[in-house]
Amino acid sequence: MQILHYPHPALRRKSTPVTRIDQELRDAVREMFELMYASEGIGLAANQVGLPFRLFILNLTADPNEKDQEHVFINPEILKRKGTQEAEEGCLSFPKLYHPVKRFGQITVEAFDLDGNGFELTVDDLGSRAIQHETDHLDGVLFIDRLTDVGQRRGRANRRRLRVGLSAAAAVRRDCPG
Ligand code: ZN
Repeated sequence: MQILHYPHPALRRKSTPVTRIDQELRDAVREMFELMYASEGIGLAANQVGLPFRLFILNLTADPNEKDQEHVFINPEILKRKGTQEAEEGCLSFPKLYHPVKRFGQITVEAFDLDGNGFELTVDDLGSRAIQHETDHLDGVLFIDRLTDVGQRRGRANRRRLRVGLSAAAAVRRDCPG
Protein backbone atom coordinates (compact mmCIF):
# COMPACT_ATOMS: atom_id res chain seq x y z
CA MET A 1 0.00 0.00 0.00
CA GLN A 2 1.23 3.48 -0.86
CA ILE A 3 -0.17 6.99 -1.13
CA LEU A 4 -0.99 7.77 -4.76
CA HIS A 5 -0.03 11.15 -6.13
CA TYR A 6 -1.82 13.38 -8.62
CA PRO A 7 -2.52 12.72 -11.49
CA HIS A 8 -3.04 9.03 -10.66
CA PRO A 9 -6.45 8.06 -12.17
CA ALA A 10 -7.63 6.38 -8.93
CA LEU A 11 -7.91 9.86 -7.41
CA ARG A 12 -10.69 10.72 -9.88
CA ARG A 13 -12.74 7.56 -9.29
CA LYS A 14 -15.98 7.69 -7.33
CA SER A 15 -15.79 5.24 -4.43
CA THR A 16 -18.31 2.46 -3.88
CA PRO A 17 -20.10 2.05 -0.54
CA VAL A 18 -18.69 -0.47 1.93
CA THR A 19 -21.06 -3.43 2.35
CA ARG A 20 -19.01 -5.59 4.74
CA ILE A 21 -16.67 -4.73 7.58
CA ASP A 22 -14.28 -7.62 8.00
CA GLN A 23 -10.74 -8.24 9.23
CA GLU A 24 -9.33 -7.46 5.80
CA LEU A 25 -10.90 -4.00 5.91
CA ARG A 26 -9.70 -3.44 9.49
CA ASP A 27 -6.15 -4.37 8.44
CA ALA A 28 -6.34 -1.99 5.48
CA VAL A 29 -7.50 0.83 7.76
CA ARG A 30 -4.61 0.16 10.16
CA GLU A 31 -2.17 0.34 7.27
CA MET A 32 -3.77 3.60 6.10
CA PHE A 33 -3.20 5.12 9.56
CA GLU A 34 0.48 4.09 9.45
CA LEU A 35 0.91 5.68 6.01
CA MET A 36 -0.91 8.84 7.09
CA TYR A 37 1.29 9.27 10.16
CA ALA A 38 4.44 8.59 8.15
CA SER A 39 3.45 11.50 5.88
CA GLU A 40 2.36 13.71 8.81
CA GLY A 41 -1.18 13.94 7.49
CA ILE A 42 -4.43 14.41 9.41
CA GLY A 43 -6.72 12.59 6.98
CA LEU A 44 -6.57 9.98 4.24
CA ALA A 45 -9.23 8.63 1.90
CA ALA A 46 -9.27 5.01 0.72
CA ASN A 47 -8.93 5.90 -2.96
CA GLN A 48 -5.71 7.77 -2.12
CA VAL A 49 -4.18 4.34 -1.49
CA GLY A 50 -5.97 2.73 -4.45
CA LEU A 51 -8.83 1.14 -2.48
CA PRO A 52 -12.27 1.71 -4.05
CA PHE A 53 -14.14 1.91 -0.71
CA ARG A 54 -16.23 4.85 0.48
CA LEU A 55 -14.13 5.28 3.61
CA PHE A 56 -11.69 7.77 5.08
CA ILE A 57 -9.68 8.13 8.27
CA LEU A 58 -8.92 11.15 10.39
CA ASN A 59 -6.67 12.13 13.28
CA LEU A 60 -6.56 15.91 13.58
CA THR A 61 -3.54 15.73 15.91
CA ALA A 62 -1.44 13.81 13.29
CA ASP A 63 0.08 12.14 16.37
CA PRO A 64 0.22 8.31 16.30
CA ASN A 65 0.21 8.28 20.12
CA GLU A 66 -3.20 9.96 20.22
CA LYS A 67 -5.12 6.77 19.45
CA ASP A 68 -8.36 8.10 20.92
CA GLN A 69 -8.28 10.85 18.28
CA GLU A 70 -8.41 8.28 15.48
CA HIS A 71 -11.70 8.25 13.59
CA VAL A 72 -12.85 6.03 10.75
CA PHE A 73 -15.71 7.24 8.56
CA ILE A 74 -17.39 4.47 6.57
CA ASN A 75 -19.99 5.46 3.94
CA PRO A 76 -19.98 9.10 5.14
CA GLU A 77 -22.68 11.51 4.03
CA ILE A 78 -22.69 15.22 4.81
CA LEU A 79 -26.21 16.05 5.94
CA LYS A 80 -25.98 19.77 6.75
CA ARG A 81 -23.68 22.61 5.71
CA LYS A 82 -23.54 26.05 7.29
CA GLY A 83 -21.43 29.22 6.96
CA THR A 84 -18.04 29.52 5.28
CA GLN A 85 -14.37 29.38 6.19
CA GLU A 86 -11.22 29.89 4.16
CA ALA A 87 -7.75 28.57 4.94
CA GLU A 88 -4.65 27.07 3.39
CA GLU A 89 -5.18 23.44 2.56
CA GLY A 90 -2.86 20.64 1.58
CA CYS A 91 -3.28 17.06 0.42
CA LEU A 92 -1.10 13.97 0.78
CA SER A 93 -1.64 13.30 -2.94
CA PHE A 94 -0.06 16.71 -3.73
CA PRO A 95 3.13 16.76 -1.66
CA LYS A 96 4.18 20.28 -0.63
CA LEU A 97 1.28 22.07 -2.36
CA TYR A 98 -0.76 24.40 -0.14
CA HIS A 99 -3.51 26.74 -1.33
CA PRO A 100 -6.38 28.72 0.18
CA VAL A 101 -9.67 26.83 -0.17
CA LYS A 102 -13.13 28.04 0.75
CA ARG A 103 -15.21 25.48 2.64
CA PHE A 104 -18.41 25.35 4.63
CA GLY A 105 -17.85 26.52 8.20
CA GLN A 106 -19.86 23.88 10.01
CA ILE A 107 -21.09 20.52 8.79
CA THR A 108 -23.08 17.61 10.14
CA VAL A 109 -21.90 14.24 8.90
CA GLU A 110 -23.21 10.73 9.42
CA ALA A 111 -21.13 7.60 8.94
CA PHE A 112 -20.39 4.15 10.35
CA ASP A 113 -17.36 3.26 12.47
CA LEU A 114 -15.24 0.09 12.18
CA ASP A 115 -17.62 -1.75 14.53
CA GLY A 116 -20.48 -1.03 12.16
CA ASN A 117 -22.08 1.49 14.50
CA GLY A 118 -23.68 4.53 12.92
CA PHE A 119 -22.81 7.95 14.31
CA GLU A 120 -23.55 11.58 13.58
CA LEU A 121 -21.16 14.48 14.21
CA THR A 122 -21.49 18.25 13.97
CA VAL A 123 -18.08 19.90 13.61
CA ASP A 124 -16.53 23.19 12.59
CA ASP A 125 -13.06 24.63 11.96
CA LEU A 126 -10.35 22.11 11.03
CA GLY A 127 -12.50 19.04 11.62
CA SER A 128 -15.18 20.36 9.29
CA ARG A 129 -12.58 21.28 6.66
CA ALA A 130 -10.89 17.88 6.84
CA ILE A 131 -14.18 15.96 6.56
CA GLN A 132 -15.22 18.02 3.52
CA HIS A 133 -11.79 17.44 1.93
CA GLU A 134 -11.90 13.67 2.53
CA THR A 135 -15.56 13.28 1.48
CA ASP A 136 -14.65 15.09 -1.75
CA HIS A 137 -11.90 12.50 -2.35
CA LEU A 138 -14.50 9.73 -2.21
CA ASP A 139 -16.41 11.49 -5.00
CA GLY A 140 -13.25 11.91 -7.09
CA VAL A 141 -13.07 15.63 -6.27
CA LEU A 142 -9.68 17.15 -5.39
CA PHE A 143 -8.85 20.33 -3.49
CA ILE A 144 -7.39 21.87 -6.66
CA ASP A 145 -10.99 21.83 -8.00
CA ARG A 146 -12.08 24.12 -5.17
CA LEU A 147 -9.34 26.74 -5.00
CA THR A 148 -10.42 30.31 -4.40
CA ASP A 149 -9.52 32.83 -7.14
CA VAL A 150 -6.06 33.67 -5.83
CA GLY A 151 -5.39 30.02 -5.07
CA GLN A 152 -6.66 29.00 -8.51
CA ARG A 153 -4.12 31.16 -10.33
CA ARG A 154 -1.28 29.93 -8.17
CA GLY A 155 -2.58 26.36 -8.44
CA ARG A 156 -2.50 26.48 -12.22
CA ALA A 157 1.07 27.74 -12.20
CA ASN A 158 2.06 25.05 -9.72
CA ARG A 159 0.35 22.31 -11.68
CA ARG A 160 2.19 23.45 -14.78
CA ARG A 161 5.44 23.17 -12.87
CA LEU A 162 4.40 19.77 -11.60
CA ARG A 163 3.67 18.55 -15.14
CA VAL A 164 6.90 20.00 -16.48
CA GLY A 165 8.70 18.26 -13.63
CA LEU A 166 6.97 14.98 -14.39
CA SER A 167 7.67 15.07 -18.11
CA ALA A 168 11.29 16.01 -17.42
CA ALA A 169 11.54 12.92 -15.20
CA ALA A 170 9.93 10.82 -17.94
CA ALA A 171 12.41 12.21 -20.47
CA VAL A 172 15.28 11.23 -18.21
CA ARG A 173 13.88 7.74 -17.93
CA ARG A 174 13.48 7.48 -21.71
CA ASP A 175 17.08 8.52 -22.14
CA CYS A 176 18.24 5.75 -19.87
CA PRO A 177 19.52 2.76 -21.77
CA GLY A 178 17.55 -0.44 -21.24
ZN1 ZN B 1 -6.39 15.03 0.10
